[in-house]
This record gives sequence, structure tokens and C-alpha cells, in this order.
Amino acid sequence: MATVLAVTNQKGGVGKTTTSINLAAALALGGRSCLLIDLDPQGNASSGVGVPPDQRELDIYRALLGEIELEQAVHETAITNLHLVPASSELIGAEVELVGIYERNRKLLSILEPLLKRYEYVLIDCPPSLGLLTVNALVAAQGVLIPLQAEYYAMEGLSQLTHTIDVVRTGLNPGLEISGIVITLFDTRNTICHQVEAEVRRYFDQAVMQTKIPRNVRLAEAPSHGLPIFLYDVKCSGAAAYLELSRELVRRTRRPAAKARTGGAATDSAALAAGEAGR
Ligand code: ATP
Ligand code: MG
Repeated sequence: MATVLAVTNQKGGVGKTTTSINLAAALALGGRSCLLIDLDPQGNASSGVGVPPDQRELDIYRALLGEIELEQAVHETAITNLHLVPASSELIGAEVELVGIYERNRKLLSILEPLLKRYEYVLIDCPPSLGLLTVNALVAAQGVLIPLQAEYYAMEGLSQLTHTIDVVRTGLNPGLEISGIVITLFDTRNTICHQVEAEVRRYFDQAVMQTKIPRNVRLAEAPSHGLPIFLYDVKCSGAAAYLELSRELVRRTRRPAAKARTGGAATDSAALAAGEAGR
């Protein structure tokens, strides 16, 4: 059965899509079948693995609305083990259209269910908001991956995210865990990055993945070629980091006990919120 992870942070431009694409690609190249679901109307994850807008007629939007089976929206990519469910720009309407649908928060969970046996990992690239699409991802997932940009206001807004996670835990998905916080866009020469890292690790402790993603221009270039980093420049520091992150994630998600997996109370959303409050 697949491990389903929502890659989310309502803050824009923090590396959600870059992480979703390249982590999924790294897992797939490591022999783990992986489904990447683009749940963002911007469709960046779809472009980033080479599925252009004119090939997204069968997409997550139509599957969510029940017009097609999710399976029909599964596209192959240049990496054998990596499949994609793309997002067309129509998905922008889903936040409104889903409101009238029965069990609107569980829609993604229910359409994903038949595919769970086929994949080891399902990664959901969320939009930069905490609306219905993100809630659907949190309900369908076992874990949340939170990319956090190494910048001064990195933790701002985290309490909103953790509040949403808590609401989802209370009613819809009690088992939802924080699988990891990923520090992204890290620039070794920038003192602020080091300060932010120290602060994030102090508050969030083991919830923070050991692997940091460096700021690396090759990571920014790869999507315009429709390629995950490993097919664009396998030797760059960004590729090495995402490979290492995939190994760390596999180690974490393999551990059976929830506490061992997330590092205990420090990863609890209350602690996350406290971290933000402590700033
Ligand atoms: P949005 O909230 O709009 O969905 P996002 O959180 O998905 O954004 P990305 O699209 O992954 O963020 O990244 C934002 C921008 O930063 C993109 O142009 C991307 O190419 C670039 N970028 C992301 N990570 C890195 C990195 N490690 N090094 C250099 N550029 C990066
Ligand atoms: Mg994105």
C-alpha cells in the first residue's frame, strides 16, 4: 500500500513543487513506484515532468468531479516508475465546485483508494493556500511534508498550517502525521540561512529533515525543460540533495511507530505553533 504524502505550505514559492517533482523522481529512480499528483491549478508539477497544458485534458479536476476515473488521468513520464496525474487550469474552479459535492473533503481520498496498491509512494503537490484542495490532500495523506524556505520569515504562517492540520486530525484524518520539514533554498554563504536553520531545528527538532536543499540554479532551470533534475543535470548539488532526501524519507516512513517516525512531541503541531509564537 502506498505511503501518501501531502507536500504543503500555504506560503508561495517555498519549493513545494520543486520538492514534489524531484523527490518523486528520486524515489522512482530508486526503484519505488511513485505517483505524483498535481493538485495546484498553476500546473507547475505537470509542466515540470514534461506534461504540457495541451496534454492535460484528463486531469485531477475531472477525476475529482467524477467525470473520469483517476486511473484515466494517470500519465507516464520520462522516468519509468514515475507517473503523474496532471492539473489543468480548470482546477481553479474546483474550490468552488467541490463545495456542493457530497463528502467534499474526502473526494481525493475516495478516488485515490483504487490506485493505492499500485504505488509505494503518492506525493501530492498542493497549491499555496489552505482551501478545499489542500484539505483534500491532508485527508488523503498519512503524512505532511512541509518545505520551509531558509529566509527570515520562514516560520510565519506555520500556525495557520498547523491549525488546519489539527482540524483535519480532529474530524477527518486522525492518523495524519507531520512526516518532515524540509529546509529549501539554502544558501551556505548566507548567514541568515544558517540562523534560520538553527532556529528551525531548535523549535522543531527531529521533525526537521537532516537533508537541506541548496539554492541551486539547475533546480530552477530543469522545469523549463520539462525534466526532473536527474534527467537535466544529475551531477548538480540539487540532484544530490534530493537523492539524499529520498533516502532519508524512506528511512523515516519505514519506521512503524508514529513517535519514532516523527520524533515525538517536538513534531506535534502544537510544538510547531509554539515555535512560531516563540519567534
Ligand atoms: P507555489 O507556492 O507558487 O506553488 P512552490 O512552493 O511550489 O511555489 P517552487 O515552484 O518549487 O515553489 O519554487 C519557486 C521558485 O523557486 C521556482 O522558480 C523554482 O524553480 C525555484 N526554486 C525552488 N527551489 C529551488 C532551489 N533549491 N534552488 C533554486 N531555485 C529553486
Ligand atoms: Mg508549486
